[in-house]
Amino acid sequence: MRLVGATLYALRIPFVEAFSHSATERRWSDSVVVRVRDDAGTEGFGEGAPRPYVTGETVETMLEHLGRDLWPRVAGRDLPPAGHLPGLATFLPETYLAGALAPNAARAALELAMLDCALRRVGRPMASVLPPRRTRVTYSGVVTAGSVERAVQHARRMRAIGMRHVKVKVGFDDDVARVTAVREALGPGVTLRLDANGAWTFERAVAVLDAVAPLGIAAVEQPLPRGPVDDLARLRQATPVPVMVDESLVTEADADALIEAKAADFFNVRISKCGGLARSLAIAARGSAVGVGVQVGSQVGETAILSAAGRHLAAALPEVTFVEGSFGTLLLAEDVSVESVRFGHRGEAPLLTGPGLGIRVVEERLRRRAITVRELSTEG
Ligand SMILES: [Mg+2]
Repeated sequence: MRLVGATLYALRIPFVEAFSHSATERRWSDSVVVRVRDDAGTEGFGEGAPRPYVTGETVETMLEHLGRDLWPRVAGRDLPPAGHLPGLATFLPETYLAGALAPNAARAALELAMLDCALRRVGRPMASVLPPRRTRVTYSGVVTAGSVERAVQHARRMRAIGMRHVKVKVGFDDDVARVTAVREALGPGVTLRLDANGAWTFERAVAVLDAVAPLGIAAVEQPLPRGPVDDLARLRQATPVPVMVDESLVTEADADALIEAKAADFFNVRISKCGGLARSLAIAARGSAVGVGVQVGSQVGETAILSAAGRHLAAALPEVTFVEGSFGTLLLAEDVSVESVRFGHRGEAPLLTGPGLGIRVVEERLRRRAITVRELSTEG
């Protein structure tokens, strides 16, 4: 099997409602979708979500990196046997992008597209390379920024639909009041976690966490900005709330350093951020081996493609404590697949069992929602 063509779609799908957190405010999805085509005409779709404040990639550098550095290294070459995940992942060369921590969104998008294509070519589902260990996946709700009143409204809605796990964005002047109000709205039966997106100083983190710890906080995500792992390790000693790393965990080297420093209780593993499924599995395995819990996270505004990949990862990992994503049209004005990936009552969603990633992408929607479309061929 050889890849003979690829199309890059830089999407701009409006959100149903502006989703904001302390590091940025997003009003639309800005994913890049990659469609690859093999010599038999089989297509596969992948997606990456470039985030300047996470991997250092932008939509523009991601498009460039795919077209200039990654695609020419795989185009026209014989791919490893259908759906052999480690083989496929090592087939993708290690690449670097000036000014970025790692070109992981680009890598993830191409890896997923190649995997989807290889599996579709032989009519096999993801389960054939990534066997599920559970029959459904339970997602968390996320309470976004905005006024405390709005946060409370969101929390009430989540309680009403039976969500069992909720995360609230913090990093504001009113954090203690906010978390207290959200906990009250959720009641005691829902697990509650915080995500500061690196907005706190060490002192502020200790103060807020001391104040809210009695409310029962399952974890605090990225309390400090990405920086020395020893700072996180010190904070972990200074607070009773378990610490989860997100922006601090991009590469496998990050995982090793965090483990070595005993700086994290949980890893937030996200496919786009971590550079694809194979690397996400590797990072999760490193964590699980030393008792670090795993959350399968998502990108705000991701389409059904990254959500489907996240579903497969969350279903397959030996241990997974929390799962996020699969908001689908709860967040996007339109999603890109025939099948809805949106989670349902109690945050539950079934496995996706169709060929490849298990969803059928509607190319016409990609084209309609794209602000840029680039065609790549074996001629470059
Ligand atoms: Mg986060």
